[in-house]
Amino acid sequence: MYEAYLADFEDYGPKTVDEVRKYLDRTRRSREIFEKISEYIPYGVNSNQRYYPPYPIYMKRARGSRIWDVDDNEYIDFNMGYGSLLVGHANPTINEALHKQLEDGILYTFPYYLLEELTDIITDILNIDMFRFSNSGSEAVMFAIRLARAFTGRDIIIKVEGSYHGTYDNVLFSIWPFRGLAGPRKMPVSVLETMGVPDAMEDLVRIVPFNDVDPLVDILEEEGDDVAAIIVEPVMMNAGIIKPEKGYLESLRKLAYEYDIVLIFDEVKTVLRAGLTTASQLYGVEPDIITAAKAIGGGTVISLVGGIEEIMSLVGPTESIREQGVVHAGTYNANPLSLRALYVTLTEVLTEKAYKSMMKLNREIIDGYTELLNEYDIPGYVEEFGVSGALIFSENRVKNFRDLMNLPFDLWYPLYYAMLNRGVIPMATGPEEMWTLSVQHTEDDIEKYIEALADAFEVVSEAKRYVEEW
Ligand code: PMP
Repeated sequence: MYEAYLADFEDYGPKTVDEVRKYLDRTRRSREIFEKISEYIPYGVNSNQRYYPPYPIYMKRARGSRIWDVDDNEYIDFNMGYGSLLVGHANPTINEALHKQLEDGILYTFPYYLLEELTDIITDILNIDMFRFSNSGSEAVMFAIRLARAFTGRDIIIKVEGSYHGTYDNVLFSIWPFRGLAGPRKMPVSVLETMGVPDAMEDLVRIVPFNDVDPLVDILEEEGDDVAAIIVEPVMMNAGIIKPEKGYLESLRKLAYEYDIVLIFDEVKTVLRAGLTTASQLYGVEPDIITAAKAIGGGTVISLVGGIEEIMSLVGPTESIREQGVVHAGTYNANPLSLRALYVTLTEVLTEKAYKSMMKLNREIIDGYTELLNEYDIPGYVEEFGVSGALIFSENRVKNFRDLMNLPFDLWYPLYYAMLNRGVIPMATGPEEMWTLSVQHTEDDIEKYIEALADAFEVVSEAKRYVEEW
């Protein structure tokens, strides 16, 4: 089975084959676990994103910027929980708070007193009137869409091609659609990304390109009065990193007002990414609703949906047959353990000074990539947002998903294996992913990253030559 996998990489040249072989040699125990549990857990993982061929590495311990796998390989981790762990692994401040909470109980399912102190902090940092906590980004998106539909009395959702908003049925469209199905660039077709979603759902989703208002205007002219929400990541962070062009978010805001549509900024990934704030505030555009998750919880399980009072105040129990509230519920919502972690994350760990130092380290990684791209004459650049960066194999700046989909993404594999073999997890898993710095990364970690990268580029450069001959 693995010989066949190795053979697949012959097309990338001997250096890549060698790296894949090394990966197989270094991760024997991971392979054993994978083979054993895949009989019971599909692909041996509990989130599709975690699987990559031939099998992922199984981890057992993490501290600071480091993580160790079951074969006792040590890695400097730049995945950092898909960008959730700006606090780093086992952060001492977070741990102290968690230990205290363990002593006091971790699940009350009565509201927790700390909410009193938290409301000002949250509404201030996120610039929202009201909010409700949930557990995952997907849940927050689900509630955001329900609220938009409740507020407008309409059903249609407009979503950006190439954006990911979690695993809710309504948004599992056109995340990474096959070229043959995606339709024209200016009029993308909505492509379902999973089995098991009713056809009827397809009628409720329209797809638009990022950074291009005209196709959106066309849709709105035709059926704007039936649209409940436009949902976007203000900075796309699930297709590498793609920034909004000047005026784009403002145009969305204007159009949403014009058609009385709820504008949802999905800030699950962008929140706290470039300071103790949201992308909405950094770009100076105020959506009606935001969703936030990942970094806010310091690694614990928590998310929120929040926004203007007019919409958020619809949440609540049904008071009478006529006055129906919007359902929002969850056994684990705002559990004390997560709230404690969130509280210290926002008040003690993610300080201005911490951001400054994380961004400085990020700059060094970006410069490292830029130098190597030049040295090896590989077309590419790094797009950065705050404490994260993504390598884009393109000469020209990518503005939307279509620019991205034809790039030589498979060069990611040689890069990834070569870095893992040198003790660095260079980014989150997947060619569309990015790296994230934490408050626990050091200058020494960055030096090691760049050293490993210099070796890895030898492999990538050879793979590129081979790929070009296909
Ligand atoms: N929205 C965005 C923008 C995301 O990036 C993600 C997860 N990567 C989600 C929603 C879903 O969040 P979760 O995985 O916590 O459900």
